[in-house]
Amino acid sequence: MKFFKNHVLNTYNRLPLSFERGEGVWLFDKSGKKYLDALSGVAVNTLGHNHHELINAISKQASKLIHVSNYYHIEEQCLLAAKLASISTLDSVFFCNSGCEANEAAIKFARLFGHKNGNDAPNIIVMERAFHGRTMATLTATGSRKVQAGFEPLVPGFIRVPFDDIKAIQHIADKKNKVVAIMVEPIQGEGGINIANDMKSYLESLRKICDENNWLLMFDEVQCGIGRTGKWFAYQYSDVKPDVLMLAKGLASGVPIGACVVNDKVASVVSAGKHGSTFGGNPLACIAGLTTLKSVEKENLLENAFEQGAFIVETLAKNLSSRREIISIRNMGLMIGIELNQACNDIVKYGLDEGILINVTADKVIRLLPPLIINRGEATILTTILTKVIQDFLERR
Ligand SMILES: *Cc1c(COP(=O)(O)O)cnc(C)c1O
Repeated sequence: MKFFKNHVLNTYNRLPLSFERGEGVWLFDKSGKKYLDALSGVAVNTLGHNHHELINAISKQASKLIHVSNYYHIEEQCLLAAKLASISTLDSVFFCNSGCEANEAAIKFARLFGHKNGNDAPNIIVMERAFHGRTMATLTATGSRKVQAGFEPLVPGFIRVPFDDIKAIQHIADKKNKVVAIMVEPIQGEGGINIANDMKSYLESLRKICDENNWLLMFDEVQCGIGRTGKWFAYQYSDVKPDVLMLAKGLASGVPIGACVVNDKVASVVSAGKHGSTFGGNPLACIAGLTTLKSVEKENLLENAFEQGAFIVETLAKNLSSRREIISIRNMGLMIGIELNQACNDIVKYGLDEGILINVTADKVIRLLPPLIINRGEATILTTILTKVIQDFLERR
């Protein structure tokens, strides 16, 4: 397929295809060839493509109001905030338009919290292999040199520790460093679908250290939140609650939105004029968010994510059990990683030929993030094709 030389800046290595329409878990290219979408625009299309209730809600809202300024009360924003507070059991929401903005808000609120509590140099503890975004502060928080290289000087105020290493954090606490918060993805997405060895105990230990030191616990659930793991939020597999929760990707099923959800302790340090966003929380995006959350409930998509995720992983493990090249197949719900003993970025093209959209992250990890609406029949098709694709790739057929 030939693409005319275009004027889009070269920030992505784009594959040579484009899509015309989608239906459920399927995407169709211009020639009519269909692909099972096991990426969902990177965990974005929670409800798949052309979800009728979502389309109706967006259309209806667009004909009433698309945007008004945050200088006024926005009813749709209040409704979505209340729903997010209810499912997270936190208190207030700042709306923005993306994951990095939700994280920027969290970083700002944490620094404010520090200064209000007499910490004049509030540092934030972040993790190796973390991904928090591409703005200056969030790329600094990100644990990948590739993301940071060329953009120095980075933003001060971050301390890095290995993921899933409580001792490293305790060591920093013991040294009386000026820390204000720990910022962590409960499951690392871009870093390779990294799940702590015992996630429940890891998150509970993080909570304990934060409580002992009056630090904030901030969970970046931009990728793992909104039902992807089989619960609304990955941290709900433990007994802890964060002080700050960052959301974006799957929240409005494709309409740009971000949210920084906080408890009252954090909310109390934020006053009018301290942060803002022109587009953040506009009626259209909030209706899309609200409809996404309601549909997840109505269609039992939390249970579905858990069940289909388990099915996909069990089936792949069985089909590929004789393959020594496979280091591990791991998941929480429909956040799935298949780690190989070799770089496998090219496998994406094998997938395209066979009609599945997959992704590789951290060079060696095949990542599956299908829409939460995927059913058993579609999950079966996915595992059958993916098994062949992995076999073919490993045999270089
Ligand atoms: C994708 C992602 C981000 C950045 O989101 P953008 O909307 O691309 O800015 C931040 N954190 C995590 C965990 C992500 O997966």
